[in-house]
Amino acid sequence: MRGGDEILRIEGLCVYFYTYAGVVRAVEDLNLTIYRGETFALVGETGCGKSVTMRAVLRLVPPPGRIVKGRIIFDGVDLLKLPEKEMRKIRGSKISMVFQDPNTALDPLYTAGYQTTETILAHRKVSKKSAWQRALELFKVVEIPEPKRRLRAYPHELSGGMKQRVVTSIALSLNPKLLIADEPTTALDVTIQAQILELLRDLQRKYGVTLVMITHNMGVVADMADRVAVMYAGSVVEVADVYELFGNPLHPYTKGLLRAIPSLTSRNERLQSIPGTVPNMIRPPPGCKFHPRCEYAMDVCKRERPRMIDMGKGHLVACHLYS
Ligand code: SF4
Repeated sequence: MRGGDEILRIEGLCVYFYTYAGVVRAVEDLNLTIYRGETFALVGETGCGKSVTMRAVLRLVPPPGRIVKGRIIFDGVDLLKLPEKEMRKIRGSKISMVFQDPNTALDPLYTAGYQTTETILAHRKVSKKSAWQRALELFKVVEIPEPKRRLRAYPHELSGGMKQRVVTSIALSLNPKLLIADEPTTALDVTIQAQILELLRDLQRKYGVTLVMITHNMGVVADMADRVAVMYAGSVVEVADVYELFGNPLHPYTKGLLRAIPSLTSRNERLQSIPGTVPNMIRPPPGCKFHPRCEYAMDVCKRERPRMIDMGKGHLVACHLYS
């Protein structure tokens, strides 16, 4: 997939939140390229800016957040330059998002079928009958049992896993080119999580849609992704092919994340957590933002922000150890 046809390129993205306590630099000078047809994982601890980055792609950063700088090129078009009317056409029809909690994504007052057909009718010139027919097809695609009956069900009549399938069917209803799944299984129990991941994998294969998974779970990354970007404190610190990242992690933060994964062979070993806490994003540390937690920190790390270096085979790392 590497070196293929790019579908999304983010350049120098900065997203800040203007709060009473000060300016939170949630995303700072972020660069990323995603290729058509791949499954890409954006990974990092809670609050590292991964969801904000992908919301910026849809131009749905909630206030008091604002996209301050950067370019987001989707299929050759800079989304940040589009009028809102054009952007609305792209949301849902070309890029769609499956959010973390299906309970908040669905409106409790309307049936699952109504909410799916509404999306279709808002973007396509089709009759209500054919939109309903399309919704029924989609319910079958996402493997909702008794799809005809479920179309008439209200969200409270559906289980968590079923609701996430409905949300996924809505996200797929307009054949998007890019599907962003933001921690799509976090709110679900473990067996249902596995089913939803399996479903996303199938859909990605069947329809060739480009899938971006936002997750803090390295197990999900290993299971699903072709390529991975690791984020720390608002910036990408490492990008690599999934095998390369797990086999040869370079950034000290990535190494820490991998050491914190339980494995069958390490049952009696203590899992290592990364010492320290994520930095204050109003006054982030100078230089490399990871330096207060890094066991390899040098003087230069406290002064200069490391630039992204290409280590070959598409493996990129932002760390002074390699410059
Ligand atoms: Fe550690 Fe320095 Fe690399 Fe940052 S730049 S991760 S502080 S070695």
